[in-house]
Amino acid sequence: MKRIIAFLIAFILIVSGGVYMTSAEGTSSGDASAEASSDSSADSVVATEVTTGEVTTTETVTTEAAATEKTNKVSLSWSKTVKSLKAGKTFTFKAIATGTDEKIKYSVNKTSIASINKNTGVLKGKKVGKVTVKATVPGKTISFAVNIKYKKIVCIDPGHSGVVPKGTEPIAPGSKTMKAKMSSGTCGNYTHVPEYKLTMVMAKKLKALLVERGYKVVLTRKDNKTAISNVERAKIANNAKADAYLRLHADSVLSSGVRGMSMQYASKGNPYVGKKFGAKNLKLSKCVRDGFVKATGSQVRGNGLVARNDLSGTNWANVPTTLIEMGFMSNPTEDRLMQDKDYQAKMAKGMADGIDAYFGY
Ligand SMILES: [Zn+2]
Repeated sequence: MKRIIAFLIAFILIVSGGVYMTSAEGTSSGDASAEASSDSSADSVVATEVTTGEVTTTETVTTEAAATEKTNKVSLSWSKTVKSLKAGKTFTFKAIATGTDEKIKYSVNKTSIASINKNTGVLKGKKVGKVTVKATVPGKTISFAVNIKYKKIVCIDPGHSGVVPKGTEPIAPGSKTMKAKMSSGTCGNYTHVPEYKLTMVMAKKLKALLVERGYKVVLTRKDNKTAISNVERAKIANNAKADAYLRLHADSVLSSGVRGMSMQYASKGNPYVGKKFGAKNLKLSKCVRDGFVKATGSQVRGNGLVARNDLSGTNWANVPTTLIEMGFMSNPTEDRLMQDKDYQAKMAKGMADGIDAYFGY
C-alpha cells in the first residue's frame, strides 16, 4: 500500500511539476520538465504533451530525479507544419524532440525563397518556389517540403510598341466611340529614346523587383516588335485575373518647361468602370504616386491624380487599374533622368513600394 501511495505522490509531483514548468515557460530549467521547456518557443499545449508522454512511458519512476533519466534514443517529429505558404506570410513550424535536452534548431535550404528563425521556427515566405524546412537536434534531422506561393498577380503594360497596330477600337465595352488601337507614343526630345523603349526597360525592372517581393507578374508585351492594341492589353490583364494592372507611360508637351509625374485613372465618375473600380483605382493611383515620389523625389503635376474617361486600355480592364506618366520626355531634366540607370532603379522601387502599399504589405 505504501509503495502505491508513494508511487501516486511521485506521479502527481511529476505531472504537476511538468504543468507548472510549462506555465512558467523559459523561467527555469534543470528538472524533469527541462526537456519540455528546452524549446523556448514551444507553446503550452506542445510542452504538456511531451511531459505527459514522459510520464506514461516511464512506468518504474519513483522519484523526480529519476524522471530525468531518459532512454538515450533521440526522437524528433513535427507537431506543426504547412505544405504551402503565400509569400509575405509567416507560419510557425514546430518539432518535438525526446531523449535529448538540446534545443531544436530550424533551417531552410534556400534562403532566397523563404527565411526561418532558427530558434522559434517562424517561416516567412519571400518569393515563389519550393523550400525544405529542417529541424535539427544533435544526431537527428527531419525535413518538410513547403511550396511558397505568389501573394498577388500584377499585370504591367509597357506602353506603346515599336510596331503600331492599325485601325480603331471602341473606347469601352459596348461604346460606339472609337479610338485608334494604339499611338506610336512620344520620344525623348534630348535623349531621342522612344517612349516604348523606356516603358519596356521599366516594365522589366519593375517585374524583377515584384517577383523578388513574391508577386506573380504578367507583361502585356515582351518585345518592341509586337503590335498590340490597348484593348488587347487590357484583355491580357483580365485573362491573367490580375489583382492590379499598372500601365507605364511617359508624357510630352510642346513646352519644355512642363514637368512632373501623374497618375491617370478611371474615377468613380467613369461611366464604364467607375462603379466597380473607381475607389480601388484611386487607392492604387495614390499608392503608386506616393511610392514613386518618395523613391525618386519627382515633381508632381497638381496632386498627381487625373481622372480620365477616354482611356480604352483602362475602360476595358476588369481589374483595378492605373496608368503612370513617369515624367516628361519633353523636359530636358526629366528626359535625361528617366534614362539614368540609378533613377530607373528608383522609379521601379517606388512603383513596387506603391503596389506593396496598395495590397497592405
Ligand atoms: Zn504614352
